[in-house]
Amino acid sequence: MKINLLALTPAEVAALVERLGEPAYRATQILDWLWHKGAVSFAQMSNLPMSLRQKLEQQAEIGFLEVLAKQKSVDGTEKILFALADGQTVETVILPYDIGESACISTQVGCRMGCAFCASGQPGFIRNLTAAEIMAQVLYVRNLLQRRGRKLKNMVLMGTGEPLDNWDATIAFLEAVKDPQRLAMSLRHITLSTCGLVPKILALAEKGWPLNLAVSLHAPNNKIRSRLMPINKKYPLEKLLPACDQYVTKTGRRVTYEYILLAGINDEIRHAHELAQKLSGRICHVNLIPFNAVPGLQWQPSPKEKVVAFCHVLKSYGINATIRRKMGADIAAACGQLRNICRDRMRGE
Ligand code: SF4
Repeated sequence: MKINLLALTPAEVAALVERLGEPAYRATQILDWLWHKGAVSFAQMSNLPMSLRQKLEQQAEIGFLEVLAKQKSVDGTEKILFALADGQTVETVILPYDIGESACISTQVGCRMGCAFCASGQPGFIRNLTAAEIMAQVLYVRNLLQRRGRKLKNMVLMGTGEPLDNWDATIAFLEAVKDPQRLAMSLRHITLSTCGLVPKILALAEKGWPLNLAVSLHAPNNKIRSRLMPINKKYPLEKLLPACDQYVTKTGRRVTYEYILLAGINDEIRHAHELAQKLSGRICHVNLIPFNAVPGLQWQPSPKEKVVAFCHVLKSYGINATIRRKMGADIAAACGQLRNICRDRMRGE
């Protein structure tokens, strides 16, 4: 097995360089090529002596992922399906905004949380991604945008998987993101989305990082939420909302509550009032999300007028609420859909 350089901390790269009998400054050069100059091969690392490049070729690799499929929406949203070394696949989405692109990153192959409206959860859980596999998605997007003269501005851990269910890899990934010798990106530009794993939210709060937390709420009460999200039976709103308050206290960051509006399920005006009463006085933002219909699932998007009326009610309580722009509707941009389509094609369905 070759050593994956994307999996190494700067100290581990330094140790590798020492083992290879090279001077210490070579570690800085390798890190610079890999993380800042966007090198995708050792051959590109032109200030390393040929002998070192050969040693690296023999013993190490840069764990980039193979691109299996790409889709581009009329609104500029791009979806990429990557193959992992064991044949599994993951999706990454690039979302174009005026201020710069945002990348939506996956943290698991499949998901065990079983949210009823989610394409990612449909095939079930297969395995956790490693921190290096999570980072490989980011570096692919960063390098692609760099070649286009664009910048990766923000990142959301909102693709397939529950990041807090893959705690060790997610934390190692975030350490690499904020490390000045590696991705060197402020956690203020990163949003971690969770379905509400309360003990992990509290553990994340203890880190005190300026990381944005988005919590998938999707319901104004436990009855509806438990129907949509099985995790609510373990961590109902009485536990989840105080944990989110704790996150705000410890990090100084407001929490974003995500709310997908599903026709006839959670989109009535009475639901808006119920939600507003629960969130009133909390330091938060509510992101109302028009649902992207998922083939094979029963749910339908709420009519636009209902979404607007729902938002209006929340605002009347002084709650900061916005309606998310629907992006990538023509390319199956709801997470998991491209992966499911490709899997079905491979099966001949
Ligand atoms: S919404 Fe998120 S947590 Fe829920 S099943 Fe989908 S990927 Fe998993």
